[in-house]
Amino acid sequence: MQYDYLIVGSGLFGAVFAERAAAHGKKCLVIEKRNHIAGNIYTEKIEDIDVHRYGAHIFHTSNRAVWKYVNRFAEFNRFVNSPVANYRGEIYNLPFNMNTFAQMFHIATPDEASDVLARQRSEIKGEPQNLEEQAISLVGRDIYTKLIKGYTEKQWGRDCKDLPAFIIKRLPVRLTYDNNYFNDRFQGIPEDGYTAMIEKMLGDTEVRLDTDYFSDRDGFSALAKKVIYTGPIDAFFDYKFGKLEYRSLRFETEVLDQPNYQGNAVVNYTDRTPDYTRIIEHKHFNFGTQPKTVITREYPTEWQSGLEPYYPINDERNGALYEKYRAEAEKLPNVVFGGRLGQYRYFDMDKVIESAAELCRKEFGEALE
Ligand code: FAD
Ligand code: UDP
Repeated sequence: MQYDYLIVGSGLFGAVFAERAAAHGKKCLVIEKRNHIAGNIYTEKIEDIDVHRYGAHIFHTSNRAVWKYVNRFAEFNRFVNSPVANYRGEIYNLPFNMNTFAQMFHIATPDEASDVLARQRSEIKGEPQNLEEQAISLVGRDIYTKLIKGYTEKQWGRDCKDLPAFIIKRLPVRLTYDNNYFNDRFQGIPEDGYTAMIEKMLGDTEVRLDTDYFSDRDGFSALAKKVIYTGPIDAFFDYKFGKLEYRSLRFETEVLDQPNYQGNAVVNYTDRTPDYTRIIEHKHFNFGTQPKTVITREYPTEWQSGLEPYYPINDERNGALYEKYRAEAEKLPNVVFGGRLGQYRYFDMDKVIESAAELCRKEFGEALE
């Protein structure tokens, strides 16, 4: 065997594992079917601006070891995600905080906001049964109607009454004037982009681009003692139990001959129209002052073969199907399934690193040290 590990996929999971493996003297081969490294956190320069090709990525974590780890491979800037919502031209701050309540209810103090929220929340009696009820019981009907309903239905392609409550639970609701979208202790964007960070993690590890594992799976597998597979788990088993479903996204990117289009990195469009959910203006992630600007409109779409699978759909059918594949995976001692596709989980980047670190603990006896 030429290699200790064959790593399928050069995304964050594969790169963290490759970095740790190399640090423990292991020899790895990374194969990647795309023509670039970094998976979905890939950034590329357009007009000297780091453009997030597969959607905006903000690094945030409360895990000090993870933060310390990523800072070895990138200098992080002071970016704090503070998206703005545009509902039919009306502008509101997100996440739901005193700025939003002042704009929506024309009040000024936390007590006044609490009174309005309590009145509006009381519409829901008992445990919320779906996303609509959960949203109203968190922030009341006015905010639900203007800032949640349209956005969520576009994002998920389903009525809010048919969506699970948990999707919305993670949005912060605050009685302070704090527009930070995340509650995490650490946050930022790599100053030179995520691609450079992944490049550093991969270091001297051999990487073959434009190389699909399935073009010669037996040949590739024979090269290494163990396979770390970060592609879709159902594809690995030739979809023998059926296909897992995803939500996909379509990105429309435009270069504009003006320095500042929307004054913020992220503007959410929270009504049913337009069809896109948000516009990203990439330069604002890095406080850019370039003469031009690059914007991306993000359109959610139903996933089908050939499209990128972005968000796993955590409903009963897909959950049960994933369990079947996971049981098959457990029977293969020399293949590890990792990352958001291998584990069919919506993982933020810090969770991907934690999950890769957990694997490193098993393989090398230590995690990120
Ligand atoms: P991936 O990045 O998907 O890497 C898997 C790699 O495997 C890919 O490069 C793929 O091409 C390759 N591959 C698959 N099959 C094969 C094969 N057969 N042969 C060879 N190679 C193969 N997280 C945050 O923390 N903050 C954010 O702001 C954030 N924003 C997001 C926005 C969007 C729109 C999306 C979809 C996700 C966002 N995330 C965010 C999550 C983040 O993208 C993931 O946590 C992370 O990219 C997962 O890394 P991964 O290595 O598991 O998967
Ligand atoms: N959401 C919303 N309005 C917004 C932003 C988010 O209703 O302006 C809802 C929507 O249902 C979304 C969920 O909150 O799916 C989680 O939002 P988050 O920004 O965490 O989702 P992401 O797109 O990052 O997965």
